[in-house]
Amino acid sequence: MPCPYRFSSRMAKLKTGIVYLIGAGPGDPGLITVKGMDCLHRADVVIYDYLANPAFLSAAPETAERIYVGKKSGKHHSSQDEINGLLVAKASEGKTVARLKGGDPYVFGRGGEEALYLHQAGIPFEVIPGITASFAAAAYAGIPLTHRDYTTSLGLVTGHENPEKKMSSLDWERLATGVGTLVFYMGMANLPLISRELISHGRPTSTPVAIVRWATTPKQQTLVATLGDVVDKVAAAGLKPPAVIIVGEVVRLRGQLRWFDTRPLFGKRVLVTRTAEQSGSFSAMLEALGAEAVPCPVIEIVPPESWVELDREIARLDETDYLILTSTNAVEIFFARLQAAGKDVRALHRSKVVAVGPKTAAAIAARGIHADLMPADYRAEGVVALLKEAGVTGKRILYPKAALARDLIPKELEAAGARVSAPLAYRTLAPKQLSDEVRQRLKNREIDAVTFTSSSTVTNLLDLLGAEATDLLAGLTIVSIGPLTTATAHKWGLTVTVEPKDATLEAMLAAMVDYYSQHANINP
Ligand code: SAH
Repeated sequence: MPCPYRFSSRMAKLKTGIVYLIGAGPGDPGLITVKGMDCLHRADVVIYDYLANPAFLSAAPETAERIYVGKKSGKHHSSQDEINGLLVAKASEGKTVARLKGGDPYVFGRGGEEALYLHQAGIPFEVIPGITASFAAAAYAGIPLTHRDYTTSLGLVTGHENPEKKMSSLDWERLATGVGTLVFYMGMANLPLISRELISHGRPTSTPVAIVRWATTPKQQTLVATLGDVVDKVAAAGLKPPAVIIVGEVVRLRGQLRWFDTRPLFGKRVLVTRTAEQSGSFSAMLEALGAEAVPCPVIEIVPPESWVELDREIARLDETDYLILTSTNAVEIFFARLQAAGKDVRALHRSKVVAVGPKTAAAIAARGIHADLMPADYRAEGVVALLKEAGVTGKRILYPKAALARDLIPKELEAAGARVSAPLAYRTLAPKQLSDEVRQRLKNREIDAVTFTSSSTVTNLLDLLGAEATDLLAGLTIVSIGPLTTATAHKWGLTVTVEPKDATLEAMLAAMVDYYSQHANINP
């Protein structure tokens, strides 16, 4: 019988595998290094655990194998031996293995053990450092770990040592008085012991302490106390791991230097109901203001049953006076069909291009065309008023429209003497179902606000939520982009609390900021 080991060692010689031990940072997906990301892009296998942000998994090639070896939720998790064995086995098959680790691989991350094992097995490896939790928590909580006026040294300490050893094996005397700033990892369960030992070995009871939980994420929590009262305060607040415990005078600087959790929408969990394609930029805007954007796409864009009508109009752009585009979807689809017809923007040389608003105009500009006209009122009504003013009698107008769009534009412009073609450019459908995660988070009351950017986002979300809709949305701050969307929400019994003056995403965000600045304590 052939020996499987001999076979695999011959394979290994054909193509050499490698393991990258990658520090994935503390949680904010922006806090991974460029090099770490680059390794992920090239990985055949990604091995990860629960502190690494799931967003990184999508950075690996679609074909990459993804293996979870985390320790959450009491279910089976891989032992360190199993993980070591897995790294060697996958690399021996000639694969590029990305071993993602929370924070930095060599700071309380068992990266040292994994690297030693790889070294002993003769597997090539590289270590890509990451931003460790203490550095990240300090930066995001507004606590410089060192500052010339406060401290000149820093100690990183495990608060939960190897179970065989006792925590008391730490040199408490030196830690308490010999090091300026101390940061404890994995220390929440041992917090009473940590504060007791530091005090009894000479650190003043009044020494400030900050506990930073889920640092760098929208659910970051920071509690400031002293060595004397931290245990009671943590118990009262019910603060749980994962958190780092920062001990030292530098904690006092947080009052002046905090920035992350003072952003206007910090901690607000906001449902984004736009299509998956469109939600990215809006989510990024929400996140820049401190909110957690929870994707909940309730609309899918699908092509019309046939392109015949739109293609026919594209064939006679030479005779078209105005092209009206009323959404970025319409822009994308119009230009895709133009290209499919073997044409490019020059086919529009005779037509004036009308954009409904700045987003649409930007999408048009990205194709190398400056929109000729844009109404002050970013709605179909605005487009009609603008074109009537320009004079449309006898003009040919092309308006690629969405299936659900009102027929206001063709009706009004035809009444004004224009010849309007309104071929179908796209249809919007509701997805078959809502993601389990969104439903669960609504049930757990873990969502603060829901944003509606069109009437169909309202009706589709209500359809998807079904009979539970009223219960699940009760108490949420309902944000609507404009009067039409609000009217639909009211029709279905929802109370809209935030509606901006202008129907744009920017104005909607500004209105949210305004609202929460006046209702700061409703959802602390
Ligand atoms: N290698 C990791 C540490 C792993 S040990 C690193 O360099 O950061 C796990 C401990 O790290 C947790 O118990 C907690 O103390 C800390 N930790 C990890 N991520 C954290 C986060 N986002 N916020 C606060 N503490 C975190």
